[in-house]
Amino acid sequence: MRVIDAHAHTWTRDIISEQDRQARKIAAERAGVEPQLDSPVQKLKAAMNKSGVERAVVLPIDSGFTQTMPLSLQEKTDWHADEVADFPDIITFVGVDPRRGEEGLRELERAVTEKGCRGWKMYPPNGFYPDDDSFYPYYEKCVDLDIPIVIHTGFTSRFKHVKYGQPVYVDKIATDFPTLKIVLAHVGAPWVNEALMVASKNPNVSVDVSGWQIFASKVPIRVCQMIAEAKLNRVFPNRMLFGSDFPLFEYALPLEKWVRFFAKLQLPNDMVDQGYAQISEDEIETVMWKNAERLFFGDRH
Ligand SMILES: [Zn+2]
Repeated sequence: MRVIDAHAHTWTRDIISEQDRQARKIAAERAGVEPQLDSPVQKLKAAMNKSGVERAVVLPIDSGFTQTMPLSLQEKTDWHADEVADFPDIITFVGVDPRRGEEGLRELERAVTEKGCRGWKMYPPNGFYPDDDSFYPYYEKCVDLDIPIVIHTGFTSRFKHVKYGQPVYVDKIATDFPTLKIVLAHVGAPWVNEALMVASKNPNVSVDVSGWQIFASKVPIRVCQMIAEAKLNRVFPNRMLFGSDFPLFEYALPLEKWVRFFAKLQLPNDMVDQGYAQISEDEIETVMWKNAERLFFGDRH
C-alpha cells in the first residue's frame, strides 16, 4: 500500500529557540528518552525508506514572533526550502505567525512563489486565536495562491498556550472561506469531538492523525474509537490524512510500526456489534495516501 506522511518535521539545534530546546528536554525527560535536538531531513528520509513511506510533508513552525530565534523568518524559510531541495518526494510548507501582519504576508507569498513552499503551517498555541479578523488577508492570500493550511490543534508543549489550540476557533474561518483547504492537525486531540464537529460541518476541513502513535502504542482502542466516530461524522475516510509528527513520537511507536498499525486497522467485533460500521481496506488506503496526494501534491507533482 502506498503511504504519504502528511505531517513531519525537520530541525537542528541551530534553528530552534532556547525555549523550544528546553521544552523538548522536558518532554523527553517525562517520556524517559533522549531529547531530539537534531533531526535533519536525512533522518526523515531514512525513516521513510525503512517504513515504505513514499512522500512526506514538512511543517515548519514560526515561533519567532514571541521568542528569540537564531534565524530570521526569511532565513528559516530558506533553511527548510534548501533542506528538501534534494528530495523530490519531500515537500515543505512555510511557518508564519499571522501577528506579523504585512511582513508575514509578504513572506508567505515569497515562500510559495519563489521558494516552492506548498502550504502554510499555522501554530496558534504560540499565542493567538486563528479566527482573528486581522488575519483575514492571510486566508485571502491562501485562496489566491491555492495553498492549503495545516493548523495545529490540541496538545502543546510546556511553554505554549493550549487554549488557542481548541479546534472550534477554526470554524469561523472555514465557514467564511469555503474554498480554503484546512487541515486540523492531530484530530485536535484531546478535543477529538470538537475537531470532528468542525470538520463534519465544513467540507473544506480535514484532519490528520499525527501524534496518535501515543494511543496506538498504549491504548489502541482509542484509535479505533476516534476512527469509528470520524466515520459516523463522514470525516473518515475522505477527509482524514495519515501522518506521524516525525520525529516527535518515534519513542512511542517508530514510523515503521505506526504505518503497519494503521494500514491493518480493523475495528474490534464488539464495536461492530454495537453498530459501528467496519472499516475497509479501500477506506484505509484513502487515508494512507489518496487524500494527501489530492490536497498537498495535486497536479503540481
Ligand atoms: Zn507537528
